[in-house]
Amino acid sequence: MASHSLLIGGEWVAARAGETENVTSPFNGDIVGEVALARPADATLAIDAAVRGFDVWRRTPAHARFAILTRAAQLADERIEEMAQLMSRENGKSLVESRGEAGRSGDIIRLAAFEGSQLYGESLPLDANRGTGFDKIGFTIRQPVGVVVAISPFNYPALLVLHKIAPALAAGNAVVLKPARATPLTALAVAQCFLDAGLPAGVLNVITGGGSDIGDALVRDSRVRKISFTGSTVVGEHIASVAGIKKLSLELGASGPVIVMDDADIEAAATSIALGGYINAGQVCISAQRIIVSESIVGDFLDALKPKVEAIRVGDPLADGINVGSLISRVEADRVMASITAAVSSGATLITGGQQDGTVITPTIVADVDPYSPFAQDELFGPAVAVSTARDLAHAIELANSTAYGLGAGMFTNNLASSIRAIREIESGVVHVNWTQLWRADLMPYGGFKSSGIGKEGPRSAVDEMTEIKTVILHGTPWDN
Ligand code: NAD
Repeated sequence: MASHSLLIGGEWVAARAGETENVTSPFNGDIVGEVALARPADATLAIDAAVRGFDVWRRTPAHARFAILTRAAQLADERIEEMAQLMSRENGKSLVESRGEAGRSGDIIRLAAFEGSQLYGESLPLDANRGTGFDKIGFTIRQPVGVVVAISPFNYPALLVLHKIAPALAAGNAVVLKPARATPLTALAVAQCFLDAGLPAGVLNVITGGGSDIGDALVRDSRVRKISFTGSTVVGEHIASVAGIKKLSLELGASGPVIVMDDADIEAAATSIALGGYINAGQVCISAQRIIVSESIVGDFLDALKPKVEAIRVGDPLADGINVGSLISRVEADRVMASITAAVSSGATLITGGQQDGTVITPTIVADVDPYSPFAQDELFGPAVAVSTARDLAHAIELANSTAYGLGAGMFTNNLASSIRAIREIESGVVHVNWTQLWRADLMPYGGFKSSGIGKEGPRSAVDEMTEIKTVILHGTPWDN
């Protein structure tokens, strides 16, 4: 069993109190590794180290940062299989899903490395401002914010770490990363790529432990200039309430709607929803959770969807041919099952699925769901979709917008006018036409409206949000000719 320490100031060190904890497989409880259990004092040490690291990294030219990051990307490419095996063991997602995720790591680092080399400013036409002439020159420069705290969730333990640390480092910031307690090992393997690529000491620090224990020490510290958080809305709200004056990116929860209009290709919609509702056992912030179908086609739609969902193979994440593995914990699996049971006992219809074996839940379709019931309104984060009906397009959009969230939305239609109206009126950070929201190109701007968060990720947007604009004015003296 591998034992891991905290990464502080370029050294692997034990937690100050000497505490450790095991990381176990959510599928079968096997011990996958052991990590140090950081406490608030360790968090402060990590920020101390990041402050020193920033002093070095801010003076490292963009081309040198670019070279180190592209080396890290190469190492991530070489370690895809190793990383995928680790991810499936600690997270419970199927190997095919882990390989897909690990396979994107190198590209995310390369995209970020490029964006970090493009910190352009702009020249200011000061003479257009009354009272100013040609005796001054004004421009902006873009600089790293300083120390960035990155806090990540369990569901994409490599991808969501990289969407934070790669742009932060590329832009010249130092980072303290706090990965999810359930999935620290993948994050540590990702960090190792950057260390092996030659990142200077203290530029990337990683502390493992409980968010509710060490979170405030990270978030409140005034030396931290930016918090990049992905996780639940409730923790995001807490962070926003204690952070003080610093930049915040919050990528939070959702209950993603998919509209299927009566003019849609039903077969294509069913194929896409049988992926979008169940990938990663539905533990995706952009999971297709609420399926809003035109009344006149709901029967045909369910007939098309049911066999596709029943064909999804669930079980041991490491076994061949398994599409979807376990949920992250027994507590989570029990919570998801209780939500399904409550929906059915209050009048919804179980079309398929709804069986639980430990942390594995069979892919589930629940129809006749009241769109204002908790099963539709609250984030499920499990392998089930809630099917409701809409009278017409306006009603479908009204239902799509009826939750507190607004991260991703999907719409199936063959009518251009309907899709344009939906694109304009759906309150959501990303809208897909003729696919579900469970699709992401790593370079695209990505982030939610309403309770789904603040800010955008995607390397270009993240570099933007992890840098400050400084305005510079050179004052000359007026001249006559
Ligand atoms: P979570 O909120 O429980 O934990 C996320 C991270 O926050 C973990 O590292 C955790 O240790 C830490 N944390 C917990 N309490 C904290 C505190 N008081 N202060 C600081 N940090 C604290 O979320 P999770 O269960 O790991 O992930 C699932 C949630 O993440 C879902 O709600 C999902 O929608 C959301 N998510 C959002 C996106 C997005 O891009 N919008 C992407 C993935 C996941």
